[in-house]
Amino acid sequence: MINVSHYERSTELLGPYTRFVIWVHGCCFDCPGCLAQNTRFGEYETADCAELAEMIVQSGCEGVTISGGEPFLQAGELAGMLRIAKHSRDIGVIVYSGFTLAELRERPDAGELLALCDILIDGRYVRELDDGRAYVGSSNQTIHYLTPRYEQIGREYYAAEKRRCEIKFTEKQAVLIGVPSAGVLEMWQKIKKKAGNEL
Ligand code: SF4
Repeated sequence: MINVSHYERSTELLGPYTRFVIWVHGCCFDCPGCLAQNTRFGEYETADCAELAEMIVQSGCEGVTISGGEPFLQAGELAGMLRIAKHSRDIGVIVYSGFTLAELRERPDAGELLALCDILIDGRYVRELDDGRAYVGSSNQTIHYLTPRYEQIGREYYAAEKRRCEIKFTEKQAVLIGVPSAGVLEMWQKIKKKAGNEL
């Protein structure tokens, strides 16, 4: 079972091609200015690995992006989910983690998930180093190509000049997708505050 804050069946904002995105719940870090407070303190559901894998496969997306929260706190479960999905279809895997690649290589429980990643975007969010670069939160974070799968398209995709976000409405809530600029994040937090529990 995986603790999930939200999942999105298709977006082009968190990696090349179309992507199924999972935001896991829970994080062991406390980055000032955290861009994903809802994944630490908001509501979440406990999802079955096999059911999530099936949704990824059926989505038709080229791959899955896993963000959070901190994915490597649930590394074993996520690796299990990916193994099931990959058994049906050759999906690509991108993971955002607050751990650096060097730190993950020291963690015995991270190896299996790391081995399934095509791209790892690593490192804590540092507000002072938030330079507005597209697809990453701050300049200390690095896009690691762990396999050749996205090497060519990734270099074009991640070279985008501007951050892009979209807001999607579900029956219960509104979800901000993408890495927001400081201005967008501030606006989003004001909207959420004004709407109270309605979003
Ligand atoms: S690692 Fe990400 S989710 Fe965790 S505190 Fe830092 S910015 Fe927030």
